[in-house]
Amino acid sequence: MDHQEPELLPPHVLIFPFPAQGHVNSMLKLAELLCLAGLHVTFLLTHHNHDRLRRYANVQSSFSRYPGFRFETIPNRLPSENPRSSDRLLELLDSLKHTAKPLLKEIMLSTHVGERRPVTCVIADGILGFAMDAAEEVGVPIIYFRTIGACAFWAYFCIPQLIEAGELPFKGNEKEEAIENVPGMEDFLRRCDLPSFCRVDDLADPGLRMVIDETQNTSRVQALILNTFEDLEGPILAHIRARCPKLYTIGPLHLHMKARLTQETKSSSSSNNTTCLWEQDWSCLTWLDSQPLKSVIYVSFGSITPMTKDQVMEFCHGLVNSGKRFLWVIRPDSVEGWEGQIPAEVREWTKERGYIVGWAPQEEVLAHQAVGGFLTHSGWNSTLESIVAGVPMICWPYFGDQQVNSRFVSEVWKLGLDMKETCDRVVVEKMVRDLMEERRDEFLLTADQMGKKARESVSEVGSSYCNLDRLIDDIRLMVVGGEK
Ligand code: UDP
Repeated sequence: MDHQEPELLPPHVLIFPFPAQGHVNSMLKLAELLCLAGLHVTFLLTHHNHDRLRRYANVQSSFSRYPGFRFETIPNRLPSENPRSSDRLLELLDSLKHTAKPLLKEIMLSTHVGERRPVTCVIADGILGFAMDAAEEVGVPIIYFRTIGACAFWAYFCIPQLIEAGELPFKGNEKEEAIENVPGMEDFLRRCDLPSFCRVDDLADPGLRMVIDETQNTSRVQALILNTFEDLEGPILAHIRARCPKLYTIGPLHLHMKARLTQETKSSSSSNNTTCLWEQDWSCLTWLDSQPLKSVIYVSFGSITPMTKDQVMEFCHGLVNSGKRFLWVIRPDSVEGWEGQIPAEVREWTKERGYIVGWAPQEEVLAHQAVGGFLTHSGWNSTLESIVAGVPMICWPYFGDQQVNSRFVSEVWKLGLDMKETCDRVVVEKMVRDLMEERRDEFLLTADQMGKKARESVSEVGSSYCNLDRLIDDIRLMVVGGEK
């Protein structure tokens, strides 16, 4: 093969997500968008996740059309049986720090090999501060990608202010007390809407410290990318821009990717990429095909929310008693004590109007005409996917950014109902009825309007489309060791 002069080769971006489904999903979409623009991309993943992607997703074959793309893997430090669940994220982060930092530096320092330049820019998950240290030590420009929404990012950013004002740690147990020191959210934010990390008595709590430190680090990087769009979070983005002026909003990424791919290939069929870490059960789409229009509520709590048996039973009764049809994702490994098996009694109770799978093709499910509501944990990807599909939500946030997201869904965007952490069959039943029956038209209308705005944002004149072009231009201008 002919070796080209390095300066004639495209920029080479190293993308490094935190190894969890929501993070990998959105950063793979970004990787593909950069590949479509002709950039070279190295995508760094743990061996564990790479292995699962190879087994359950078609990402390997779909990326084979981009000769400038390659995966690099980080050896596992955690045993494969470690659940990598939300309560053990600090453990995962810590193990990553030890194995990934030397590898990152090695990749950044490796020189031109034939058809690829040395790394010209790193795009790291915005909770991986050690990646920023590594990039600074080597002198490669670094951009952060936060996989959460602007609303949660801004709430995280303001935690030091909350501490200074004496709003944290909470004094007393009043969950609904108003929070006054997150600018732009004074009118509706309550204690229970703050990120779950804030619910500590000790300000030295490692989870809280991690969130504060990693978020404050954002002011050290060259730029920040958020998977959101201006029409959704404009007022909050204005607050963030005052602190992080170089901000690219390029979402919803899954929609953006499809739009660009369709534009590029002049066909919409080639955009069916899957990036799942679990095996998808496509049979649920056949089940949906036989259900009436907008009659089904889709229930899923994402990739890392654990559940107790009691919680599952409350949802089970609530859903059955609502009289509505439902499609429910119960990850086999998510319920403590179930040993990966859904008990026969649950299947029996739910079989009349329900369908249960271990992992669903979520984007396709939400886009299905039979789906009229989404009972979600309010993970950011799920929230965006629901918005794009125009599906109203019932929110049952579990942790992290989800408490803020659920407040925005109900109070700011009026796209559904916020159950907060209540887990009671009577409340579940009532909310499902409200969403799917009593207030159905009202929610479907607002959801449809927001879905339209999402589509506009990734159209050729839309804000996300233009911002992605700007990001790509800026990456092309970046030179290793160049100025910030
Ligand atoms: N997802 C999926 N099938 C499922 C459940 C979830 O494909 O049965 C995908 C979903 O489409 C989303 C991601 O997993 O892209 C979950 O990310 P999110 O940010 O919503 O939540 P997390 O899993 O990070 O808590």
